Amino acid sequence: MTQDVVEAQTRFLDWLDGRVAAEGRGDADSVLDTDPSGVYWLGRLAPESEAALIGRERRMDPCAVGMRVRPAHVGPWSFVVRVRALAWSRVGNSQERNEKWEKTAAIDVPLRIEVPMGAVGRAFGGRRIADALHLAGAVGSSAEVRVTDESWRGSPELVVELVNTTAEGPRQRGERHLFEVELRVLELPTRPFLLESLPDSFRYDRRLPAIGINCGVAVLGPEELATTDRVVVDRRRPEYTFGRTDARTLPLTFERLSEDPVPTLTQLVDAYAAWGRDHWSADSLRHRAAEERWQPEMIEQARVAAGEHTAELRRLRAGVAALEADTDLRTAFRLMNLAMRRAACGRYEGWRPFQIGFVVSVLPSLVREGADWQTVETVWFATGGGKTETYLGLLVLAAFYDRLRGKLAGITAWSRFPLRMLSLQQTQRFADALAAAELVRRDSHVGGEPISLGYFIGAGATPNEIPAAPTEYNPIDVDDPEMANRYRVLSACPFCGSERVRMKFHRGDWTLRHLCPATGCPSEGQPLPVYVVDQEIYRFLPTVIIGTLDKAALIAMQGSMRAFIEGPAGHCSRPRHGFTYAKRSKRPNGCLVPDCQGDVTPVAPTIRRRFAPSFRLQDELHLLRDSLGAVDSHYESLLDALQLELTGGTSKIIASSATLTGFERQVRVLYNRPGRVFPVPGPSARESFWTRETDSLLRRFVAVWPRGVTLEWVSDRTTTIVQQSVRRLLDEPDVVCSQARVDRVHVPMLLNLYGTHVVYGNTVRDVEGAHRSLGTQVPVALLNVAQLTGQTPFEEVRETLGRLLRPEGDFHDRLHVITASSMISHGVDVDRLNIMTVLGVPLTTAEFIQATARVGRTHPGLVYVIHKIGRERDAAVFSHFTPFIEQGDRFVEPIPVTRSSRRVLELTTSAAIEARRLFVHEPRSAGGRLTTVDLLRKYSSQTGLAAGEEARACAAALGLDEHHHLALGDVVQQLETYFMRLENPGDGARWPHQLLKRSPMRSLRDVEVQIPVSDD
Ligand SMILES: [Zn+2]
Ligand SMILES: [Zn+2]
Repeated sequence: MTQDVVEAQTRFLDWLDGRVAAEGRGDADSVLDTDPSGVYWLGRLAPESEAALIGRERRMDPCAVGMRVRPAHVGPWSFVVRVRALAWSRVGNSQERNEKWEKTAAIDVPLRIEVPMGAVGRAFGGRRIADALHLAGAVGSSAEVRVTDESWRGSPELVVELVNTTAEGPRQRGERHLFEVELRVLELPTRPFLLESLPDSFRYDRRLPAIGINCGVAVLGPEELATTDRVVVDRRRPEYTFGRTDARTLPLTFERLSEDPVPTLTQLVDAYAAWGRDHWSADSLRHRAAEERWQPEMIEQARVAAGEHTAELRRLRAGVAALEADTDLRTAFRLMNLAMRRAACGRYEGWRPFQIGFVVSVLPSLVREGADWQTVETVWFATGGGKTETYLGLLVLAAFYDRLRGKLAGITAWSRFPLRMLSLQQTQRFADALAAAELVRRDSHVGGEPISLGYFIGAGATPNEIPAAPTEYNPIDVDDPEMANRYRVLSACPFCGSERVRMKFHRGDWTLRHLCPATGCPSEGQPLPVYVVDQEIYRFLPTVIIGTLDKAALIAMQGSMRAFIEGPAGHCSRPRHGFTYAKRSKRPNGCLVPDCQGDVTPVAPTIRRRFAPSFRLQDELHLLRDSLGAVDSHYESLLDALQLELTGGTSKIIASSATLTGFERQVRVLYNRPGRVFPVPGPSARESFWTRETDSLLRRFVAVWPRGVTLEWVSDRTTTIVQQSVRRLLDEPDVVCSQARVDRVHVPMLLNLYGTHVVYGNTVRDVEGAHRSLGTQVPVALLNVAQLTGQTPFEEVRETLGRLLRPEGDFHDRLHVITASSMISHGVDVDRLNIMTVLGVPLTTAEFIQATARVGRTHPGLVYVIHKIGRERDAAVFSHFTPFIEQGDRFVEPIPVTRSSRRVLELTTSAAIEARRLFVHEPRSAGGRLTTVDLLRKYSSQTGLAAGEEARACAAALGLDEHHHLALGDVVQQLETYFMRLENPGDGARWPHQLLKRSPMRSLRDVEVQIPVSDD
């Protein structure tokens, strides 16, 4: 993007935000027909006599603004305070019908202030301010400056406030408020506050010039501080190639890496080493420590971090060495680059250094040497950095590496997302990369099954099974001509990009197909390599499976999940029937196609082992917390234990996380494995080897404190003003362009990029409330609105995303407002979303970072954070909004997660019992079936299976600490009851699950509905 385009965008945002601020304060108004205290939310000051006495209510409409400062010298102090304000007066007759209000003139009163040491609420300037207000037309209004010496905190510290002291009397309600208020402190040399007690302090600028009281503080010049109505913080766009990684000296193109990767990667690693010598050496740390006056803990933290850099460098070197030593790995790496080049279609030519750096850092463990295989590799990139492509590169590499080493079929990776719904955009990107890999596989004559994708979601979005005839539980009707279309997942052909993808259900081999009719498409009319029905996933075992975390629950219910831990039972002789599983009464030969009469060839145990997934991926690791994290930790252990028992190995785990805080502990709890993160952060928050900040605007964050009016009012007004202003650009382009100082040529671009406003709510209730009020409280004609929450039907999500990605030609036909929940925070990447209102600070900082990263992905974005100021957390965030935005990463709270909850164990024990029955015992049983209590009883008496032994196996499979005696006792007790019922035919149980204390969970969320905790 050229500089002048970014410049125009930034100027337009300045103008737009200027409009919102002006309207919020009433700058341009001089007459109103309603009480201004019900209209404006900025710059206002309630009369002290009306203000509540206690914190929460007092914050709603404060009667004072000011700042806390640290004078450079001990008192007494002499400095200047400048006060600006005005009021509104009700004029005309006082009948309600024709109410009219007029703005008074503004006052601007400089006061020389002499503050003695020990002053407490010492008042200044009351007389002069009242006189000025009187002259301005606000007869009876008054205010005063109050100063308190708080040097008892350890160093000189003053609180300077302007308080509205207007008494009840001549002025009526609404007239007693002051508006457009500002307080400045001049000619007082100050020292900054230092943010203490946060981790990684050495990486951040810890200075705060002053602390606002009910407002923000701007530094206008040396010794000039002013209160601000909003806190505005700009984040700068990062860049990924610069200095030693400049693309001219170090081109990390797909092309180059597909030819001879080793020299280029060696150069990258050497550059990283050289950079480390400059930035992490003992000398440079000593220099900074002196310059920035580091505390001893900070020096120690920096020393530890330098060691992490060295370890990462070592891993990168080992990665390049593995590539050099292992021919198959090198071939796989080269083919992966060919595939990624193909998938990119010229949109980009290569890797960002950190992307390929991550892939290289994982290579040593790919060759399954050493303890590295067990280490959970966590990718930590700023959102928008290109995490998905990095993942895809690794998956495609792993798929080729599997093939080259003789794993010709089966799952290479199972990638899980923690939400109920998986982003369609993300799915398309996976499909594109895998289709490109498939074409490369064909071209380079790599053997095995086609490389393909499985979309493992179910739960209404896609079918678990297409039944021969509709049933009570599965109403899907194969004869319904619209049926197939309902399950379209791809919007474009992953081979040729055509958007004419069609859906068709094929009765012959019982498959639900995505088809591309475009001429010249490499699919040649054959089904596209993507499977969306659970049963087809079991039958064809796509190379990469993406799905929701919830699906792990199937391990205790679905015998066909065997291929997720080991491999299938056999192969059906009928064409395209695929793999077979345990026999059931409805499928006597184990084939999953209804009424199949084919013969089944068993898969030999030695071969079966090779089918096990090489990787499990976990996206958005930080969302695995609380009860969901606890439940998942048991299921992860169960998957590992089964795979280890059946194949002798486990999958490698790769994760991505938005937070670094406490991730090692989280990984340990979830997976019982050690973890590490890539990349390790640089010595300064603004620059590392992999990324640094540029001068261009990424996102402007505006903290808004809704004074005296509701949050909903401020949100509706903000939407109204933004939409009206954008529409003015359409109707009066010359006026707007001259005000905003942008060239007219940019108008269509600006309308496209700033015409859609996202209103983000933290709860579905907030989102729906915002959605409703758009119809009644936002007086903008022809306003097109859509909603995106977890409850939005699949097809509606697809349509809305389509409209956002490919907007209608006419502005009035486009979507103008999207009300959304955290559903959009994961995988919705639309460059056209650049304005957002956040209704209240989200419960976690990670969610805040993720949600706001939806805007400004490619172009400058604007985010209004309207605080629910009555809440303590929101008030706290407002008070340190600047560091909260600039250093958000370390405000991320440690993830609360535990695996030793007996309540959770009570739920997951059933899963262990059932999964072991399905995958350990059933395949060993004589008839290959343990589907009834009778069969199970027979098996247990023949094999001598007993409660004690099975309890120990279940506990171990759930990853239970053997010293946790109480928990172990619980498991033993569940198994004893289970075996007692099993051995007692009089019990009446017919099916094994009836022996359980409770059925296995159908979803990992069954434990409880996730209700965000809030104090409102
Ligand atoms: Zn095609
Ligand atoms: Zn069959």
